[in-house]
Amino acid sequence: PTTTEMLALTDVHTYYGHIHALKGISMTVNEGEIVALIGGNGAGKTTTLRTVSGMMKPKHGTLTYQGQNAAGIPAHVIMGRGMSHVPEGRRIFPQLTVRENLEVGGYTVLDKALIEQRIQEGFGFFPRLKEREHQLGGTMSGGEQQMLAIARALMVNPKLLLLDEPSMGLSPLFVEAIFDIIVKLNRERGMTILLVEQNANMALEVAHRAYVMQTGEIKLSGKASDIAQDESVRKAYLGDE
Ligand code: ATP
Repeated sequence: PTTTEMLALTDVHTYYGHIHALKGISMTVNEGEIVALIGGNGAGKTTTLRTVSGMMKPKHGTLTYQGQNAAGIPAHVIMGRGMSHVPEGRRIFPQLTVRENLEVGGYTVLDKALIEQRIQEGFGFFPRLKEREHQLGGTMSGGEQQMLAIARALMVNPKLLLLDEPSMGLSPLFVEAIFDIIVKLNRERGMTILLVEQNANMALEVAHRAYVMQTGEIKLSGKASDIAQDESVRKAYLGDE
């Protein structure tokens, strides 16, 4: 099969004021892939996703999404082109019900029947959300909120899904459930996924390729199975002694 580049970053530099968070990042995500971005605290993983989804503007370098420039293009425009970002910490609307959260996620979808169809698809992926349809988002467990955050992002039927630490703070059972859905979205829907994770073990298990970040730079990249075997990675991120 031919490889189609969905996302490409070349020598991307992003700053917070004077803080140089991304120091020349180059990476690609091909259509149909799950790509994992791993690395320790403060490595720049979240900043990479924010730059990709238009929440931050790179100061230097090029960023293309589906062959078109995406650097500094506003987040809502990028979203309209089929990219959806599940931010770190979930950020669901605590005062809205599960259903209302999903409706907000689909606000750019004008066809009411399609909105309803996507809500039902979300309930298909996450039966727990169906059971809690009228519960306030803020009263749900962390794992349930993460499910809601993902289901909300799916309301626009994205081509590219950005997931920032979906397993953070979740019990092992929820972690399994979330990773199962990631694989399912990729295999059954052909969804392309860029996954940021501190849980490198799980991320490398589901990903096709991976990039390892450290202090704003990419230190290593390759097939996820090879990265998982790498001794320096095992020591730093996979809990090996
Ligand atoms: P973590 O897993 O801890 O979230 P990360 O790899 O996602 O780490 P980033 O959050 O992208 O890392 O942070 C990269 C660098 O940018 C860090 O040095 C961090 O302190 C800095 N940074 C992140 N957010 C801000 C901000 N809002 N203002 C200033 N500096 C920031």
